[in-house]
Amino acid sequence: MSFDTLGLTPELVRVVADEGYTQPTPVQREAIPIVLAGRDLVATAQTGTGKTAAFVLPLLQRLHATADADRRPAGQRPVRRSVRALVLAPTRELALQVEEAVRTYGARRPIQSVAIYGGVGFEPQARALRAGAEIVVATPGRLLDHVAQHTIDLSRVEILVLDEADRMLDMGFIRDIRRVIAMLPARRQNLLFSATFPGEIRELAASLLDRPSSVDVSPPGTAAELVEQLVIPVDRERKRELLTHLVRSGRIGQALVFTRTKHGANRLAELLSRDGIRAAAIHGNKSQGQRIRALDDFKEGRAAILVATDIAARGIDIDALPHVVNFEMPLVPEDYVHRVGRTGRAGTGGEAVSLVCVDEAGLLRDVERHLRRQIESEVVPGFEPDRSVRPEPIRRWSGTTVRPARPAGHRVVHVATGHRAVHLPAGVHARPGAGGPAPVVPSATGLHRLDRAHGAAPRLPVALPGERLARAAARPAPDRSGSSPEARPSTGRIRR
Ligand code: AMP
Repeated sequence: MSFDTLGLTPELVRVVADEGYTQPTPVQREAIPIVLAGRDLVATAQTGTGKTAAFVLPLLQRLHATADADRRPAGQRPVRRSVRALVLAPTRELALQVEEAVRTYGARRPIQSVAIYGGVGFEPQARALRAGAEIVVATPGRLLDHVAQHTIDLSRVEILVLDEADRMLDMGFIRDIRRVIAMLPARRQNLLFSATFPGEIRELAASLLDRPSSVDVSPPGTAAELVEQLVIPVDRERKRELLTHLVRSGRIGQALVFTRTKHGANRLAELLSRDGIRAAAIHGNKSQGQRIRALDDFKEGRAAILVATDIAARGIDIDALPHVVNFEMPLVPEDYVHRVGRTGRAGTGGEAVSLVCVDEAGLLRDVERHLRRQIESEVVPGFEPDRSVRPEPIRRWSGTTVRPARPAGHRVVHVATGHRAVHLPAGVHARPGAGGPAPVVPSATGLHRLDRAHGAAPRLPVALPGERLARAAARPAPDRSGSSPEARPSTGRIRR
């Protein structure tokens, strides 16, 4: 199938040809006709599937069409110059990339756009808005700052896109998102893209979308098929030495390397640099300038290794990235899928290597269960793990053990669908396998999951951002003795 069969104008078909795209990706094939028809859409698609073009191309076409209708007969500029399309994204990197895509795909017939995100000056963004940006790609917090300063008017938005909605919710943006939505005109087209589809996203979709069409191109648990995945067992203290060895021996060339914490990312980049390997770190504590510089150094080959945290790496767009390295295994399996999706993008092969120490055996098992397959494992000669080492609880880089913050008298329960720890008051029981996620409702103190076993009450707090680490640490250390496969709680089991 080619792009001309999707209903795109010849102009946009030429643009994708300019970009070297020969065929639409599955999400583009399915989503573009739906968006062009003006329908609401909910799409399950992760980074690397071509999802950005799947909404930017038809969005441009729809805005062009109405701009044509507004155009005066003499062919003068359209009368209306207000914000007509709003894309909400979780991170500044993603906001920048989506806005870049707007410019790229709009190259043959530009529509003014601006990326709005925090950590940089306010005034240049306000100027771009005053100058008549019609497409705004924004992170929710800075967008609300502009609303408060009256530098943006959202009352004429025709199309709303929530990109990486699951990540926005993970980052605690739900209230900001709802505040933004409340400012938009009731009549508009809504598009929601999310890599995963937990209960909160279903809740948001139900309240936001009007009889949406749905597209699902990445069933949960499917890592990019083109990516070769490999586990290298190694001792906890020898991971950095092993990574240096893999780079020096040429086994790994350019790689995006994941750590669980910002501090870990900095420290690893520093140590690799001391080993003579050109490395940079990218995470939320870096200034925007530092992040852009690190990314440029990596893209242009001045740095061989870019060390990143999950949140910072989401949305980074680097073509043909050959390797992803999980220096530390992620605490939730969905993050593994996202990490791996950073390589093998849009038709190129790639390799994802996980350096797994004895402490992370449980996290690896979670990932394999999520993928519904075992990942091949290979020991690197000279780095054979010491079998006598006992597992320890997952630690932060600093050596501090991460312990769950648990109110006194509460127990930790892993509810049926998906790695969320909730605190149950003593005497309240969760019923395993009670039929999918319990509904989630917003309240003054955040999102709450209604306990199905007890009807409407009590309300159980759903873990909020920042608690993910604590959540995973609430799982007991993996049992390597082989004595009890039930040593960790499977979903739905209650741990006392
Ligand atoms: P995304 O999932 O939107 O982050 O896109 C991932 C990468 O795929 C980007 O670098 C796009 O430029 C590229 N891409 C998008 N659509 C296509 C296509 N139809 N053919 C080849 N590459 C594409």
